[in-house]
Amino acid sequence: MEEKIIIEEEKIQEELNAILEHCGRCKDDKDKALITKAFRIANEAHKGMRRKSGEPFIMHPLAVARIVSEEIGMGVTSIISAILHDVVEDTELTIENIENAFGKKVATIVDGLTKISGVFDKESNSLQAENFRKMLLTLSDDVRVIIIKLADRLHNMRTLESLPRRKQVKIAGETIYLYAPLAHRLGLYNIKTEMEDLSLRYRYPEIYDELSEKIALSEKRRRQLINHFSIPIISRLNQSGFNFDISGRSKSIYSIYQKMAQKNVSFEEIYDLFAIRIVFDPKPGIAEKTQCWDIYSSITDIYPPKPDRIRDWVSTPKANGYESLHTTVMGPNGKWMEVQIRSRRMDEIAERGFAAHWKYKAEGAQDTELDKWIKSIREMLEKPNSDAMEFLDEFKLNLFASEIMVFTPKGNIITLPAGATALDFAYEIHSEIGNSAIGAKINHKLLPVNTRLSSGDQVEILTAEGRKPTMEWNEFATTVKAKSAIKTALKAERKDRIEVGKKMLEDQLKKLNLTPSGRVFKKILPAYESSNKDELYSKIGSGMVSLDNLKDILSKNTKNKWVRVWDLSLGRPAVKPKTVDEDAYDDKGRLLLKENINENEQNYELASCCNPIPGDEVIGERQDDGVIVIHRTDCSDAIKIMSSHGDQLVTVSWTQHKVFSYLARIHLSGWDRFGVYNSITNTIAQEFNISMRTINLHGHDGIFDGTIDLYVHNATDLNNLILNLVKLKGVESVHRVEIKDQ
Ligand code: MN
Repeated sequence: MEEKIIIEEEKIQEELNAILEHCGRCKDDKDKALITKAFRIANEAHKGMRRKSGEPFIMHPLAVARIVSEEIGMGVTSIISAILHDVVEDTELTIENIENAFGKKVATIVDGLTKISGVFDKESNSLQAENFRKMLLTLSDDVRVIIIKLADRLHNMRTLESLPRRKQVKIAGETIYLYAPLAHRLGLYNIKTEMEDLSLRYRYPEIYDELSEKIALSEKRRRQLINHFSIPIISRLNQSGFNFDISGRSKSIYSIYQKMAQKNVSFEEIYDLFAIRIVFDPKPGIAEKTQCWDIYSSITDIYPPKPDRIRDWVSTPKANGYESLHTTVMGPNGKWMEVQIRSRRMDEIAERGFAAHWKYKAEGAQDTELDKWIKSIREMLEKPNSDAMEFLDEFKLNLFASEIMVFTPKGNIITLPAGATALDFAYEIHSEIGNSAIGAKINHKLLPVNTRLSSGDQVEILTAEGRKPTMEWNEFATTVKAKSAIKTALKAERKDRIEVGKKMLEDQLKKLNLTPSGRVFKKILPAYESSNKDELYSKIGSGMVSLDNLKDILSKNTKNKWVRVWDLSLGRPAVKPKTVDEDAYDDKGRLLLKENINENEQNYELASCCNPIPGDEVIGERQDDGVIVIHRTDCSDAIKIMSSHGDQLVTVSWTQHKVFSYLARIHLSGWDRFGVYNSITNTIAQEFNISMRTINLHGHDGIFDGTIDLYVHNATDLNNLILNLVKLKGVESVHRVEIKDQ
């Protein structure tokens, strides 16, 4: 026991010494004395406290101070604040104590860190927009608060191992949600990358392990590629007298993971994508920008550049301060390679961001983009009436481009692509929740499932038993997960619907003393704009088609006297008193083909060989069962009948048909000019109000042809349509053709 404590004391002392030794920005012994003083106070205050890992608590603030100093490059005030960052929160010490010992500045920073901690790290509090806002408010006090907070989070991520799984996932989720983007926004590239990788490691350990293994395995090949690529560049730049480093770094595990997920590609397709980086010590007396372009010129003399792939962040630095000249060139092995060219100073800003940016910023120099950004946030926050949510929206726009993070009611984080809806969220949680979703409470407001979500939203899905996905949900969903779940549900649903619809139709027909015969379908399929029974059943089952008017349709014209005449003429026993109806024939003695609403009283059938439509030149063939089959006069079957069974022919004449629709096919051809398809379908659907069943037009070599199947009431309507279609610009010919596959 005694020995253990001695070893711990030594470790703590070593840690402090490391801080003192590596404090690049400590000006003198006075600074070091202050750091040592901060350490003594913190060490005393945290005495006896241990972290979950078992090590003395003081090791944590010391580690945070080292990150702040060595990895971010901050100065003494930040180091002291980092050492003291947990004392007010966790011990008896007060802000007043800190202020008395170290002055106002350190006290303010520690106070800021304590406040964030109060709203942020408490387990009972789920991370939410308001907390996020409170954290950003500290930006207006001192940006160092955020930087130390990021260092604190980074160390917690590095030591996440000892926490229970549940906490690991929560902390890793918050890190990827807020801290990593914030680090990115402040230009702390290395910290951002490490946070992302660690977050992935704890959120998806299997993916993380698999990817790191693959990266390790491909390391050798990558090195060969880099060497092969670099050799001519090295000799060329040496000749030009440049002092430079050239390196090729693989992408971070997280960025590989992201690319694989977003572009849906395999590791093998992207593993050798990496950037070659050239960092040069600028020659004196020549602008850095000019030297960047000199190097660019040397490289593109060796490897041809890809047009349009120059990224010049030297002339216009990124908003987070990043400066670099990027180009993509064709490497020796026929592979595109990105090359980044930057000076030592630019590289330091790229790696360390904000702190380096401060270091290089000369007194009175112009504000950089980062300065402007921080200034604008300060201004926004200082506006007395500024809307916190509005501010957040704007801020978040900067942080998140392609991903949003939203919260479950319990505060768990769900990552979704930008533009995702509440429905996507529901399916992300569970397909059953998605399938039965009826609405969402977004930030406690009741909204429809197709509402688009924003980062930070808290979403609760309301479900109802018996709720089923509908076709339009396909448009509400954006994630692959949601879309495929909806597809599966709709498929199963359609099967059910067909059964239900079939039963409903049979029941209704039964009430009318009818059975679902072929003749019933011949009539009701077009009436309900369905091309086959399943489609009709499905429409009935889903409620798209109401059977309320079925009786109407089938019972209109119940006094069709023609049938009685027909029965008479066949000499069959008639059910009802038979009266001859003069209306059955026209004045030339032709049998009238009327539009009969009641299936039972339909006196004719349309032949399937030639699909006549009302208005066509037709002839009837009386069959043995008394039904008259109507053929077009030019139908080859009808011609056969005419020549062999002349006695069975009945001359017929159409009455006006306006209710039912009949399937007809037209063939079109013409010039495949812009807008021609649109004007054709517009004429059919808008001007003539005719339903189309299938459109089968193909363009090739500047011309188009094909067919359109339509539902028309009669031949007159069809002929009118054809006449109008021919008049359209680009349409050469339109004519009716037979439907062979009916
Ligand atoms: Mn801490």
